[in-house]
Amino acid sequence: MIEIDGAEGEGGGQVVRNACALSLVTGEPVRITNVRAKRSKPGLMRQHVTAIEAACAIGGASCEGLVVGSSDLTFRPGRVAAGDYRFSVGTAGSTGLVLQTVLLPLLLADGPLRLVLEGGTHNMLAPPFEFIERCFLPIVRRMGGQVEARLIRHGFYPRGGGRIEVDIIPGPLQPIECLTRGGALAFSACALYAGLPISIAEREIAVVRKAFDWSDRECFMRQLSTDQGPGNILLLEARFEHVTEIVSGFAQLGTTAERVAKTAVGRMRGYLGCDAFAGPYLADQLLLPMALAGGGVFTTVKPSEHARTAATVIERFTGRRTRFEQRAGSSHAVTIA
Ligand code: AMP
Repeated sequence: MIEIDGAEGEGGGQVVRNACALSLVTGEPVRITNVRAKRSKPGLMRQHVTAIEAACAIGGASCEGLVVGSSDLTFRPGRVAAGDYRFSVGTAGSTGLVLQTVLLPLLLADGPLRLVLEGGTHNMLAPPFEFIERCFLPIVRRMGGQVEARLIRHGFYPRGGGRIEVDIIPGPLQPIECLTRGGALAFSACALYAGLPISIAEREIAVVRKAFDWSDRECFMRQLSTDQGPGNILLLEARFEHVTEIVSGFAQLGTTAERVAKTAVGRMRGYLGCDAFAGPYLADQLLLPMALAGGGVFTTVKPSEHARTAATVIERFTGRRTRFEQRAGSSHAVTIA
């Protein structure tokens, strides 16, 4: 049994999600202690419980300690089976993070499957749906993974109620190299809002217009039906030949629209100021598929603690080492052996 101290490195939920995914893929049982020890509310939250329940359901796994608040978890994997699956996070827990847990194991199933996930589609500290669809999945497809995701209904934190559907045709992944972005194709800013005044979206777009030389056509607002709110997120997208980056600013009570927009602008400036392929979030999310593909290389901005911790967990299960090397400028090369 592999033993992981959840307090090491980044010390968040990603350790648990990656460990369960890797356990299903390798067939190795795992015990995780000090779950999410570095978070303000340590232990499993509702969304982590749903993610692990989903891992149990798709992989015939059993799990001890699977309750909200638990900090000690033992996961014993079984065999991943094809079928139609539906998981509901209940609260506005992130559907994207549940997908992060089950996607790679599902690519090893014995037949096509459909996954329906209900909960939050736009949450703080989690990949918004657009990021999954336009940044992450295209790279998985380039590795040979046949995965399509659709957003059926938006779900904003804290109300939730969103729904995504994912179709997967299992098959092996191939190692790829992702070193350069290629030429810039398009930039855009979208202020999504539901059940809130349009002035919030207008103020966010005004900040973006001031920060970047993007045209009226590239900066727009999109109002969703009131029953999908209340909620607001500003999504900034940079599309290059070989990769798309989406950064976000997520509205929350007590944060001005200007602050939300400045967060997103700062993140986009960080990405555009470097020539690396992957932004910080894509970098930690690419490690797992690349490890399962048997290797891979990509360049990224300064590697986050999430990425370094993911690399450590991957090595525990697969023996594969990840090398982080600074290159000229601020970009880093990440090589999965
Ligand atoms: P954790 O904080 O351990 O629960 O992990 C959060 C996960 O969500 C990581 O894989 C991050 O890369 C991802 N994530 C957080 N915020 C964003 C964002 N704004 N865009 C894309 N991915 C995100």
